[in-house]
Amino acid sequence: MNDSATDTGGGTRQQGQHSGAADGGNAAGRTGDGTRAVRAGLPEPVKHEPTLPGPVFAAHFHLPGDPTGPYTYGRDENPTWTLLERAIGELEAPGRDDVETLVFASGMAAISSVLFSQLRAGDAVVLPSDGYQVLPLVRAQLEAYGVEVRTAPTGGDAQLDVLDGAKLLWIETPSNPGLDVCDVRRLAEAAHTRGALVAVDNTLASPLGQRPLELGADFSVASGTKQLTGHGDILLGYVTGHDAEAMTAVRRWRKIVGAIPGPMEAWLAHRSIATLELRVERQNATALKVAEALRERPEVSGLRYPGLPDDPSHKIASQQMRRYGCVVSFTLPTRARADRFLDALRLVDDATSFGGVRSTAERRGRWGGDSVPEGFIRLSVGAEDSEDLLADLLRALDESAD
Ligand SMILES: *Cc1c(COP(=O)(O)O)cnc(C)c1O
Repeated sequence: MNDSATDTGGGTRQQGQHSGAADGGNAAGRTGDGTRAVRAGLPEPVKHEPTLPGPVFAAHFHLPGDPTGPYTYGRDENPTWTLLERAIGELEAPGRDDVETLVFASGMAAISSVLFSQLRAGDAVVLPSDGYQVLPLVRAQLEAYGVEVRTAPTGGDAQLDVLDGAKLLWIETPSNPGLDVCDVRRLAEAAHTRGALVAVDNTLASPLGQRPLELGADFSVASGTKQLTGHGDILLGYVTGHDAEAMTAVRRWRKIVGAIPGPMEAWLAHRSIATLELRVERQNATALKVAEALRERPEVSGLRYPGLPDDPSHKIASQQMRRYGCVVSFTLPTRARADRFLDALRLVDDATSFGGVRSTAERRGRWGGDSVPEGFIRLSVGAEDSEDLLADLLRALDESAD
């Protein structure tokens, strides 16, 4: 795995004046992820003002005379979003001042804004066949608008085979919930050769795990509901991109549909990002230990974690990811066994979603959307002490045995 030695943080200046993550830095002139996370998006210090200004609650802003920006109406812009957008941009693309980030009310708002702002009737788009469970609904809507939708699995870079003539390639890596990984550089290069734009759903990796723009993508899109904010208490989405024209269209879409985050959610998200590196380090380290322990269990099959050296995703993941995420997936022999296991857990809540400080797990098949076995479990590893969590998981496996 690459570490922060690959960072190019020194002197990050995105979207104007602020004392961003990268001021200072270590002896090599680089800023580590922890430093970057705690300082991300902060404004220049102002005497008697808080370090992170509180949420600005405003439907409209005083605006005498000709209506000029930045702040006119609360559906277009908000100062609390501006700081959060800078913070996310610094994490997704450190050291670059040519990227723009837009925050949304949810991950789906961000995803839909890219797809529906970029695609027209007659265009073709390539989606993953094994991606987030709402993508089939998006597909139906795109098709209703006359967009041709092609799908292929994430693993084996299979999307390469259906790229010809496409306007946009949508990648989800690692995929949710199957945890397959594709080669973003290879796919992006092939898509760009054919004139297609490339978007990567970066939800599962988080910007500390993977930087899609550095790998050649035009958009990094994610649900901030998951590890980015990490407490399971807000919904948020974002799009980071470097193509100014494409981002203008995404911004216009946000204005049209009004899929905007509330100032309180935006502020909570920014506050949460300060601990992103701490959470990610703990959660990902424990996820690897959990995967190693589950590998020894005879009742566990289909175990997937991209950080395991013998995982089918590991080779590509180790080349393009900086950290491997907090999600582990595996299959128990039957639906009944999986349900008993989930019931027996004490430190792991039976709940959907992932990335939070409290571990969660669910039998994914209960939703009916993903093509997974009945006993398939998606486990999101939280920030508990790893010994406690491992003991709980192993005890629940024992107690749920036939
Ligand atoms: C959760 C999730 C989304 C959707 O995000 P919301 O914030 O729930 O709208 C999109 N993509 C992936 C990979 C997700 O896990």
